[in-house]
Amino acid sequence: KKLSLLVCGGAGYIGSHMARMIAEAGHDVTVFDNLSTGHLEALKWGKFIKGDLRNQDDLDDAFQDTEFDAVFHFSGLIVVSESVEKPFEYYDNNVTGTINLLQAMRKYGVDKFIFSSTAAVYGDPVMDMITEDHPLKPLSPYGRSKLYVEEILQDYAEAYGFDSACFRYFNAAGAHPDSRIGEAHSPETHLIPNVLLSCIDEGRRLKIFGDSYSTPDGTCVRDYVHVQDLCSAHLKALNFINENKGAHVFNLGNGQGFSIIEVIKAASQVIGREIGFDFEPARSGDSPRLVADSSKAADLLGWEPEFDNLTSIIETAYRWHKKPAF
Ligand code: UDP
Repeated sequence: KKLSLLVCGGAGYIGSHMARMIAEAGHDVTVFDNLSTGHLEALKWGKFIKGDLRNQDDLDDAFQDTEFDAVFHFSGLIVVSESVEKPFEYYDNNVTGTINLLQAMRKYGVDKFIFSSTAAVYGDPVMDMITEDHPLKPLSPYGRSKLYVEEILQDYAEAYGFDSACFRYFNAAGAHPDSRIGEAHSPETHLIPNVLLSCIDEGRRLKIFGDSYSTPDGTCVRDYVHVQDLCSAHLKALNFINENKGAHVFNLGNGQGFSIIEVIKAASQVIGREIGFDFEPARSGDSPRLVADSSKAADLLGWEPEFDNLTSIIETAYRWHKKPAF
């Protein structure tokens, strides 16, 4: 069946890949985005409504003309360290904005919701391979803003019959292999783009935040997962919540941890040159190690990442960063 889907935050990094994948799967897609961090140039698929989740009139604009089958919600502020400095902005955008969106959904009778959460909800983990039932103790306002929405969705499932899937992304990375869209943050705070940019832009030197974490080489360990694989999980989740009522939570990661030094080595091989760096003090709010056990998504959704090794992820990111279209 051809579906009509709303993608909030569809001008952003993951949202634009999602809007494209929905369109290429033959469904109708509408993007809702305030363009605060997103890019108009990324909106090559579907219809676009410029609006802010904190403005009810903007939400009415999105919902009044189209009967959506489901809403995918990618809008949000995402920089851990910034959230420590600016908690209001994080709670206002990520929590108030989401509550408004859910309210608009109730008003227009839409009750299927897929939400971008984060591995940051686990804080400083006590498990090597984190499963969804790991204790939730976020270290930052960013992580808490995502956890609060997860909890709200549990209540909405109970009270209003909302069916939802929350995806706890580990570290999203890579770009669509044809490099028409990719990762473009300003300023860029993420590791893989910064590693690549330090090679591409002369005079831009890579900083490594923290060298004495409790990890084998002292730098933080992360689980990098390709943006296309994140998006494919969302489409599978839509089928799943249509058949399984309630609020569901899934980890999305490759299940392999790489330290910052290991990421630099892998990137250096892809690019074919040495990458210089300096150590800087650790950022506040960073976990030493975040690695996913994603067997729940594999078992219940039939999710299988296509880009299951770091090199292939970095290759697609490099293709984009060499020649970004925006
Ligand atoms: N990081 C770094 N240099 C950079 C960007 C990130 O050392 O230019 C580190 C960061 O402190 C963290 C890891 O790389 O330990 C991954 O950071 P990123 O911002 O990509 O994702 P996060 O895990 O914070 O969501």
